[in-house]
Amino acid sequence: MPLLRSVALAAFIALALATCASTPVDQDETPSVLLVSIDSFRADYLDRGLTPNLERIARDGVRARWMNPSYPSLTFPNHYTLVTGLRPDHHGIVHNTMHDQALGEFRNSDEKAVRDPRWWGGEPLWVTAEKAGLRTATLFWPGSEAPINGTWPTDWIGYDESMSMSQRVDKLVGWLARPAGKRPRLATLYFEALDETAHSFGPDSPQTSATLAEIDAAIGHLLQGLAKRGLRERVNLVIVSDHGMAPVPASHALNIETLVDAIDARYVSTGEVLGFVPLAGHEAAAEKKLLGRHDHFECWRKSEMPVRWHYGTHPRVPPIVCQMDVGWNAVTPQKLATRKPGTPRGSHGYDPMDPSMRALFIAQGPSFRRNTELAPFDNVDVYPLLAKLVGIEPRPNDGDIAPLLPALK
Ligand code: AMP
Ligand code: ZN
Ligand code: ZN
Repeated sequence: MPLLRSVALAAFIALALATCASTPVDQDETPSVLLVSIDSFRADYLDRGLTPNLERIARDGVRARWMNPSYPSLTFPNHYTLVTGLRPDHHGIVHNTMHDQALGEFRNSDEKAVRDPRWWGGEPLWVTAEKAGLRTATLFWPGSEAPINGTWPTDWIGYDESMSMSQRVDKLVGWLARPAGKRPRLATLYFEALDETAHSFGPDSPQTSATLAEIDAAIGHLLQGLAKRGLRERVNLVIVSDHGMAPVPASHALNIETLVDAIDARYVSTGEVLGFVPLAGHEAAAEKKLLGRHDHFECWRKSEMPVRWHYGTHPRVPPIVCQMDVGWNAVTPQKLATRKPGTPRGSHGYDPMDPSMRALFIAQGPSFRRNTELAPFDNVDVYPLLAKLVGIEPRPNDGDIAPLLPALK
């Protein structure tokens, strides 16, 4: 190489190195994490050929064969597990409907309870991130409306089903498009429409297929929105569901009041995971009637539940828990009499190991490998991955990042 050119090259390299070295380490250079939940998206829905945008994300990134939900396979317990890495038995959202000695009743439809931080144990990732000085934003996630450990996300909106999917996407992309320093490092997005359609019409119905296509279009809108603002390489996208969905034959419902005499026990939760509290002095009678195997369900003392469910130590778990067989539910006589005949046609809340309960996990972005398939893992393992992507130390949790490490570059 002629002397002059090599001098010029050396000068150029020196200048480039100096420029790199003098660039301040801008915290905002760490890509943001966008965690999206599509409620009740069963892992195999991705193979129906109805969701080209989600399929492309999986192809350009990572797909788990499936993800195991935690017990019980219901919405609130599992959403909160995903952001804490704790089993429901450890974070305290042990059901969508619970009783607590000091706090009273919790229902996921009761705004006052949902916003009361005393229900929410552990620490969700957005709180840990905020405490580390990072901005976070939630466009719905169970727990995000309560000041847990005294902290809300920087930006959050109270759960509002009437907000359309594209309105949610536009709002969220707006937040992510803020300038460095104002942009959330962690954001969440949530869609309930698929869960609602599949409960009403069943997972194999044309209506569920139509909703799948609508959700995929919303994901397409999200990808376009990110691309338009040059954010595709600045955002690690993690798309999950909380549980799957099983078909429910029209006649598969029991009257919960026929399972045990009202003088022996009262029920605190209905549906697929039933909770009973024996009345004082009637413990033996309640146990005799309920414990063990029955047609369409099985009951245990909370201390004797199957080990694989990691469930039964939290004070909010009632003394007797009954698990309905797949495709069955037990509800109040009032509900049996008033709900639309033949509904629900789809349900979850069944054994997390049943194939119908398998949840979705796909991810794509600057930190993820391309075209990578992961073996199935438990949903508690997502939290340590999210903490690593956000760049914060995870709080003590029940998860293990190891099954997810092959996803990362
Ligand atoms: P489920 O199918 O009973 O497990 O619960 C699903 C329902 O939870 C959805 O239809 C939503 O309407 C509701 N839901 C989800 N997120 C929230 C939230 N942050 N606040 C209140 N309700 C919610
Ligand atoms: Zn759900
Ligand atoms: Zn549901």
